Amino acid sequence: MHETIARIAEHQAELSGWRRDIHAHPELGFEETRTAALVAERLESFGIEVHRGIGRTGVVGVLHHGRSPRTVGLRADMDALPILEANTFAHRSRHVGRMHACGHDGHTTMLLGAAKHLAATRNFDGTVHFIFQPAEEGLGGARAMIDDELFGRFPCETIFGMHNRPKLAVGRFAVRAGPMMAGGAFFDIDVTGVGAHGARPESGIDPVMVAVHIAATLQTIVSRNVPPVETAVLSITQIHAGDAYNVIPQTARLCGTVRAFSADVMDLIGRNLKRVAQGVAQAMGAAVAVDFRVDFPPTINDPAQAEFAASVCAELVGADHVLRDPPLIMASEDFSFMLNAVPGCFINIGNGDVEGACEVHNPAYDFNDAALPLGAAFFVRTVERKLAASPA
Ligand SMILES: [Zn+2]
Ligand SMILES: [Zn+2]
Repeated sequence: MHETIARIAEHQAELSGWRRDIHAHPELGFEETRTAALVAERLESFGIEVHRGIGRTGVVGVLHHGRSPRTVGLRADMDALPILEANTFAHRSRHVGRMHACGHDGHTTMLLGAAKHLAATRNFDGTVHFIFQPAEEGLGGARAMIDDELFGRFPCETIFGMHNRPKLAVGRFAVRAGPMMAGGAFFDIDVTGVGAHGARPESGIDPVMVAVHIAATLQTIVSRNVPPVETAVLSITQIHAGDAYNVIPQTARLCGTVRAFSADVMDLIGRNLKRVAQGVAQAMGAAVAVDFRVDFPPTINDPAQAEFAASVCAELVGADHVLRDPPLIMASEDFSFMLNAVPGCFINIGNGDVEGACEVHNPAYDFNDAALPLGAAFFVRTVERKLAASPA
C-alpha cells in the first residue's frame, strides 16, 4: 500500500466516525449550518485558518507553509438531498426527508482527512485552500462562493475535486481530460388555451392537445437539429394540466431538462425549443410562455491538470487501476463553475462494485468508508507534488 494511504488509514476509525456523524445529520443546500460549523471547528483544531460564510454556508480553510507564493485549491461539497432514507443502519439520517444520498458526507470527510494530514506533516511549500462548498445539488453553491470573491480572496493556481462513483471498485480512480460531465438546463413551457366544458371542445382551445404536440415535436430537436456526432438529451419530466373529468383546462405546463457538452449545442437546443413551443402553440391557436435557463456549464477538465491528477492516482493505486477514458457522464456538476474560473480537474473515486452496489440519489445509497483514505491521500499527494518544497 502507498505510504500516504497507509498513514491516513491509521485514522480510519476516526474518519469513518466523522463521515457517519455527517451522514446522520444531513442538511439541504444553503442550510448546512451544523455541517459547516463541524468543518470549521475541525479545521481550527488542526491549526488551520478558517473563513466562514463564504457563499452563505461555505467554509474555506487556509494552510500556509514555507515562503513560496504558489497556491492550490481543493474542493468538497457538503449538502444533502430531499430524499427519505431507506437504510436502517445506526448512522441513518436523523432528519426525516433529508439524506446524504450523493456521498457529499464522504467528500467532506476526505477533504477534512487531507487537511488534518497536511497540517500535521507540512511537507509542502506554498498555500493550500480547502474549499467546502454548500448547495451543490442544483442550488448554485459554487457560483455563490465565486460571487463572494472566492478566488479573489483565496487565489488558486489550480483546483481539484472528486466525486465518488458507485460501480467502480474501491481502489480505482477515473480521470478524463476535456469534457467530462454535461452542462444542464431546465425549462418550463406554460401553455394557455381557453377552458371549456369537456363535451364542448369547439367552444375552447385545448391546452392539453397543444402540450402533447409540443412534447412530441420537442423530441425532434436532438434527432433532427443537433448534429449526430454531438451528444445531447432532452427529457420532459413533468406535465401538468386539469383537475376534472369534464373540464378542458385553461392551462397546461411542461417542464424538463436538457444536457449537452458544449455551449453551442445548448444554445441551439434552447433556440429550437422556443421556436417549436411558439410555433406549435400558434398553429393551434394557443399562447405560450417559455423559460429556458442554463443552470450548469459542462464540466471540462484542463488537459494538463487531468494528466497531473491521473499521475497522482497512478502513484497511489497503480496506473492499471486508473481508468483514463471513462464514458461521458450526462449528469451535471456544480464544480464546473470553479473549473471555468481556474484550471483544474474533477476526478471520480471508486465507491465499490459489489453485487447490488447502490447508485447515488437512491434512498438505499451509503458512501463507502473504505474509500476515505484513498480520497484523502489523493488530495494530500496533489498538494505535496503541486507545492513540492524547493531544494534549499
Ligand atoms: Zn448528487
Ligand atoms: Zn454529488
